[in-house]
Amino acid sequence: MPELPEVQTIVNELAENLPGSTISSCRILRESIVQGDQTRFRRIVKNKLIQKIERRGKYIIFSLSSDFWIVVHLRMTGKFVLQPNSRQPQKHDRVVFYLSNHQKLIYSDVRCFGTFDLTDDLQECRGLNQLGPDPWSEEVTAARLKKELTNRKIPIKTALLDQKIIAGLGNIYASEILFDAGVNPIIAANSLSERKLSVIIRSMRKILNLALQYNGTSISDYRRVDDKQGTFQNFLKVYGKADQKCLNCSSQIVKITQNQRSTFLCPTCQK
Ligand SMILES: [Zn+2]
Repeated sequence: MPELPEVQTIVNELAENLPGSTISSCRILRESIVQGDQTRFRRIVKNKLIQKIERRGKYIIFSLSSDFWIVVHLRMTGKFVLQPNSRQPQKHDRVVFYLSNHQKLIYSDVRCFGTFDLTDDLQECRGLNQLGPDPWSEEVTAARLKKELTNRKIPIKTALLDQKIIAGLGNIYASEILFDAGVNPIIAANSLSERKLSVIIRSMRKILNLALQYNGTSISDYRRVDDKQGTFQNFLKVYGKADQKCLNCSSQIVKITQNQRSTFLCPTCQK
């Protein structure tokens, strides 16, 4: 699933191209993706100006004129393609926006778990209103995290995946961040000192900045706009590296399962 660096890369690319375009019309090819009344969705987005594209957690937010927003979650296999109107429809096209500049913005999704929500009140939007702060927010401090984790008897990796605690992390970056911080993913979140939490916060910002610089990690389904690939997969140190040698100490990287998700770690570097 695309995580913060992947979603931000897509947002940056859409933001370069879309603001200032008007949606002439919209076609919904897979109804389950657009939440709520489909006719209303098509009617409301028609002739709206796309003003801005932003990210919150793993959500993409399209700001439209007249104070409407389309809130998109890509889930597993969602991606955007921006093509001339003349492009032939493809098998996995699910939602198509015809734009005033003779382009079409296509939402393509093989498995169709992605969602589009149209709202006139972002504060009320399902999913968004539950999100914790962004990793770079000044609200994310070791002291605040320590307080928040006090009563949570969950492993630190599970805590990092909880979008209510910090918004945007997923399986790949949680493993990479904890390796960088030298923290074992199974350690109880509430047992970590403030000092250790500040190391994790520093590693989180460092790894996410680096991943953003390389436009995210394309190891499975994630694609940038127009099917371009990110390249951070070339810099991963533990994720997907089971049985390979740790770059720091040459011990074997191991893969464990936490909450039905894979976690990768170096048992020597991450005590
Ligand atoms: Zn190691």
